Amino acid sequence: MSSESERARNAAAMLHPELLADHDDAATTRGGRRLDHAEGSSKPLRPPPEKQPRGAKIHGSRPVDQAEAAERFLAAPQHEKMHDERLWDLRQKRDREMHGMPEWEELRSLASAIKEHTLTRLDEYLEQFEANAQKNGVHVHWARDAAEHNAIVHAILKDHGAKSLIKSKSMLTEECGFRHYMASVGIEVIETDLGERIQQLDNEDPSHVVVPAVHKLRTDVAEVFAKTIGTDPDNSDVHYLAEAQRRSNRPLILAADAGMTGCNFAVAETGSVVVCTNEGNADLSANVPKLHIASIGIEKIIPRLEHLAVFVRLLSRSALGSPITQYTSHFRGPRKGGEMHIVLVDNGRSERLGMAEFWTSLKCIRCGACMNTCPVYRRSGGLSYGATYSGPIGLIIDPTFNARKYSNLPFASTLNGSCSNVCPVKINIHEQIYAWRRELVKLHEVPFAKKAAMKAAGELLSRPAAYRAAITATNAALAHLPRFVIYSRLDAWGKHREVPHPPKQTFHSWYQANRGGKR
Ligand code: SF4
Repeated sequence: MSSESERARNAAAMLHPELLADHDDAATTRGGRRLDHAEGSSKPLRPPPEKQPRGAKIHGSRPVDQAEAAERFLAAPQHEKMHDERLWDLRQKRDREMHGMPEWEELRSLASAIKEHTLTRLDEYLEQFEANAQKNGVHVHWARDAAEHNAIVHAILKDHGAKSLIKSKSMLTEECGFRHYMASVGIEVIETDLGERIQQLDNEDPSHVVVPAVHKLRTDVAEVFAKTIGTDPDNSDVHYLAEAQRRSNRPLILAADAGMTGCNFAVAETGSVVVCTNEGNADLSANVPKLHIASIGIEKIIPRLEHLAVFVRLLSRSALGSPITQYTSHFRGPRKGGEMHIVLVDNGRSERLGMAEFWTSLKCIRCGACMNTCPVYRRSGGLSYGATYSGPIGLIIDPTFNARKYSNLPFASTLNGSCSNVCPVKINIHEQIYAWRRELVKLHEVPFAKKAAMKAAGELLSRPAAYRAAITATNAALAHLPRFVIYSRLDAWGKHREVPHPPKQTFHSWYQANRGGKR
């Protein structure tokens, strides 16, 4: 196994000469000295790029403080603006695609019905999938939880004497802490998806289920690559960076002992695994080494191949606003002379299936549309959630793993319902978020101050006369109190906003004066 610095030197040596300013003849004097003004060597007369805000700090099982991490993200205006615009652009593209398909709502209903049907007969379809995969010559394993998944994969790799593994993006392996585990047993994991590789090199988790490095500016990527694969820290040209990463990663892919993929859909009637990517990296991971391992969450099953068409039409349109992913790869058996293993992973899914209010969250096809549309997610970045899953879907999945640790997350929502409206499999996301709030109160996982404030608000809102008196008193106070009192530390709402001027007359008093008694 080569060291990081050795790899960085190799990567620099592998870069196309035109990508290295050192090789630009016009940029050097006869003596070979670099000209100061030459592209790539001159120091930019710009302020240094804004530093990337880091995600939530995690301390054991203590509740993640999403609001604190979000505040740091908001305090980095270039990142916040870019993130918001990039994701809103995806949402708009999704809308354009949706409007181009008159049968869109029909497809959503169909997708939802197929998923609900499958989830209510999951045991049957899983067994059918297993039997058909075995007929195709695939070894099938069952993992109860993350630890079992990691141990099974480790055992397979050990049997083959594998020391390095290339893998395509998989949220399930993130759930299992797979990379960290493999590092602890001395097996090198190389991510083949560009965004995921950026996150791996930066020692960060993915911040989005589809676009893992979407929270990073080009300059952040330039900094990461400069440190890890030896690129020019001042060159943040996207083509240069992508090419550099490709040249650094390809030799590692060719030399890997084993490959791993996740799974978008596992077809019960064929026993095949379907993976959708835009970079073809799942095909590299599955086909270059002789050993292919596919990690599959048990909810990924669909009954028949014909059902795939429904999901494929919805997935990429919802995720990126593109009609289809560049690659929709079907893996049915081992490559010639090779071996294929499938690990079917539960990791809390059966338990979730038994939760009356939350079981339909298992319909999720991880398109990320709910994240792209969510005003809280867009402005706080995925890493602020301090969990594998962020955004609206994360708010309902994460507490199923650890209600205490993720007890703040269901409150990071405006409950505007936009997430449910865009969800291609019609999960009632905002209703489940609200249901989690009730559940957390029952579980005593809500801070005392929040509980007391909610109780007081409930009392006030249930007494119209007291509510109106409070409104009148507040309006009078807002009109006369000095600014430093209104914007004190107690006013969390006013931290980033101007409190509106109180109206001279409330709607209620206007109504009484002008329409009082009339029907
Ligand atoms: S909950 Fe729906 S919108 Fe969100 S990622 Fe899952 S499928 Fe996509």
